[in-house]
Amino acid sequence: MKNGQSDNSAAVKKEPKELAGESVVSGWGHGKAYFIGRTIQQQDATIEAAISREEVGSEIIRFNEIRDNARKDYQKLIQDLDRESTVDASILNIYENILDDPAFIGQVVETISVKLFNLETSIRTVSNDFIKRFESSGTSYFKERSSDMVEVCEKLVSYLSSESGRAKTFAEPVVLVVLRTFTPTDILSYDRSKIRAVITMSGGKTSHAAILARSYNIPVISGVRNISDHIKPGDEVLVDSDKGNVFVHPEAYVVERYLKQTHGETIYKELKAKWSRPVYTRDGVRIEVLANLSLTEDANEAVENGADGIGLVRTEYLLSNRKEMPTEEAHLAYYEAILSKGAGKHCTIRLMDIGGDKIPQFFDMPQEFNPFMGWRAIRIFLERKDIFETQVAAILKAGKGYDYSIMVPMVTTLQEWIEAKAFIREIASKLEMPMPKCGVLFEVPLAILEMGTFMKEIDFASIGTNDLIQYLSAADRNNSKVNYLYNPVEPAFLRIIRNSIKVANDNGKPLSICGEMAGHPLHTVLLVGLGLRRFSVMPRSIPLIKEIISNISFAEAAESISHIDVIESMDDMLAWLKNLNARLLGDLMKRIPYIETGI
Ligand code: PEP
Ligand code: MG
Repeated sequence: MKNGQSDNSAAVKKEPKELAGESVVSGWGHGKAYFIGRTIQQQDATIEAAISREEVGSEIIRFNEIRDNARKDYQKLIQDLDRESTVDASILNIYENILDDPAFIGQVVETISVKLFNLETSIRTVSNDFIKRFESSGTSYFKERSSDMVEVCEKLVSYLSSESGRAKTFAEPVVLVVLRTFTPTDILSYDRSKIRAVITMSGGKTSHAAILARSYNIPVISGVRNISDHIKPGDEVLVDSDKGNVFVHPEAYVVERYLKQTHGETIYKELKAKWSRPVYTRDGVRIEVLANLSLTEDANEAVENGADGIGLVRTEYLLSNRKEMPTEEAHLAYYEAILSKGAGKHCTIRLMDIGGDKIPQFFDMPQEFNPFMGWRAIRIFLERKDIFETQVAAILKAGKGYDYSIMVPMVTTLQEWIEAKAFIREIASKLEMPMPKCGVLFEVPLAILEMGTFMKEIDFASIGTNDLIQYLSAADRNNSKVNYLYNPVEPAFLRIIRNSIKVANDNGKPLSICGEMAGHPLHTVLLVGLGLRRFSVMPRSIPLIKEIISNISFAEAAESISHIDVIESMDDMLAWLKNLNARLLGDLMKRIPYIETGI
């Protein structure tokens, strides 16, 4: 079969099925199911499975290399677990046994050299054979070995996707089915232009994977129960995330109905053509709408969508699909590419926010029970200054002649910030370069609640609402189970935001919001009312946000906002907000029915 999915094209007509899930990123998409995660049944997972005779040798060498990598990783895991002595790590020895099993090695080598399948397909094919044999053996011991085989197979395959540095391509549009928590690598490892939607077991609206998906306009739905009982690799799937529906083997008329839905795209294109210029409220207050970006190509998107600058470069994506820390040259090339495309506008580069759900494969990260509360961002920076010296030096060199600044994530205390800033200054003076403007990403409660004390030490502030909400509400941003607590319109949260904006405005320090909250059109009037003058959002959101801003009066929005002091519950706040939008944006909402959902 063409794109390597298992063959489901038997002549029998497949029964259409409809499943329910929760919207993580809105929109709809249609394609063939492509499984990621523990899905050993998926034969020929790589799209171009065939290799030439000349490639046989190098595939076998790669096989030995990745077996070595896997063995080292398992040994390290065993050591870590032994140190913690919470579990008996010896059970992991079974994985090493599989890696060294002559039958397994022999069959993979044979499949590569006789069938001329590439390495990934060969590993999957042989693993499948083993599993079938284990499962038909009848004994519980062998049945359990199947899950070990799945583990080893997926482990080996994971090195392949990360080592080539190239995204895998698909021959036709796909819907990714992620049988675990959805991660940024799931999007970055594949050709994005072919990913039409994602169905995932778990994942919150502001998880990094969701943020990436949203910026590439890929709808995501989560919480579909027993996915693999209903969808098989290669099945035709249509996802409507707005309504929370997944259609498996959809009827032709259902697909047709969706294909005709182009209204949102038409409006988006109209607004995009209109908003390459700056935006002012009706009463003449200039509001900047900046772009968030991760990859160098996103800088083009930012310019095309009329960004007034770049408010956040998430530099840790520079680390994805790499085998080791980027060199200064690699850093330099990345910043130069972004700065040169930025049309001479200001650009804020955030130091690498390593940790949480962004852990490079090569980075020796200790096992953590609470990675989001653990060793992350500035906490790593202050301990591993060598790594960050490379990054800061490259930013300073690339920034020469450009208007740029440096932002530090996850700052908790003023003392940390002062130490980080002193280190940046030290590098600048070593290189005899001017000290750039430096600011704090306020995303830890302790820091934002004491924002006033930071004021004389920072050049600018930005609020990272994605992390801030999760820390204030103790609700994991990646966990759809606790999504009900994770809400930007919680009254207590809005009051904290209002105070922070006031502190920055009173001190004459520019402040932006760069979390996902700022990019949702539902919140635009609210944030302007709270006094925000700088939004930083994914490029695709810029035109609609500007259109909304141009339709409101700053004074009128500010006047309405005093109401948030008397609202006690999130539901009441949401009802009030929808009402406020209807009152202030009535006509616009009729013309553009996407203010509550986003385009
Ligand atoms: C945030 O936390 O709001 C933020 C902008 O950073 P990230 O989403 O990359 O953690
Ligand atoms: Mg953050």
